[in-house]
Amino acid sequence: MWQVIDGLKIAIDGPSGSGKGTIAAMLGQELGLPVLDTGLLYRFVGWRASEQDIDLNEEDAVLGMLKQSVADMTWKAEGIFFKQAGDEKDCTSQIRDENAAASASKVAAMPQVRTALLDVQRHIAKLGCIMDGRDIGTVVLPDAQAKFFLTASQRERARRRWSQLKAKGEDVDLAYVAAELKARDARDTERDCAPLEKAVDAIHIDSTTMQMDDVVERILNVLERRKLINTK
Ligand code: C5P
Repeated sequence: MWQVIDGLKIAIDGPSGSGKGTIAAMLGQELGLPVLDTGLLYRFVGWRASEQDIDLNEEDAVLGMLKQSVADMTWKAEGIFFKQAGDEKDCTSQIRDENAAASASKVAAMPQVRTALLDVQRHIAKLGCIMDGRDIGTVVLPDAQAKFFLTASQRERARRRWSQLKAKGEDVDLAYVAAELKARDARDTERDCAPLEKAVDAIHIDSTTMQMDDVVERILNVLERRKLINTK
């Protein structure tokens, strides 16, 4: 239904529970563009480091592990895959839990880890995509033709995150999820290297009281107005 300009890159940033993953997936479906979730990369690094008992405060050790693991890792729209003993496994759902999220936000504060993952992200984005994360509009794809910064109240974001985990069958307490989310928000916004922030040319959408369909509609309107997409 939509015709998309060649090499269209859409950056969607925002904190956990802001709806960016859902919105990116809905947009990807609508526009036929691959959707790349950069949070998976940091989750993968945090998960591998924890599995190997690497101290998450030791940047050199985490970086060494990342350099060793990167050749066996495949990151694509379908998720993240890791080859161990010649066998490639999809570890996407495994690393979507709260433990991996907390480890991710610790390793994500390490400048060398971010640099090591930068090329991986830029390379895959070349042909056009929707990429979501924390620093896509500011650092990874500053040249993206359209940038959106999604937010929602902390209370609503915790509720969304809790429902997601519940739907996956995880027995978690809302107060625990809210506390974890708050701690992660603080680490992500207060770190020195590529903190979560709105790019100056990003459009801010607060989805606290919005339906996801309405957010997608608003984004499609922007893309159409800018002639980045046309109805066929
Ligand atoms: O998006 P998601 O919640 O899966 O991200 C997990 C963690 O990875 C975030 O809390 C953040 O610390 C880190 N991250 C990041 N930069 C990105 C994507 C994720 O620092 N572009």
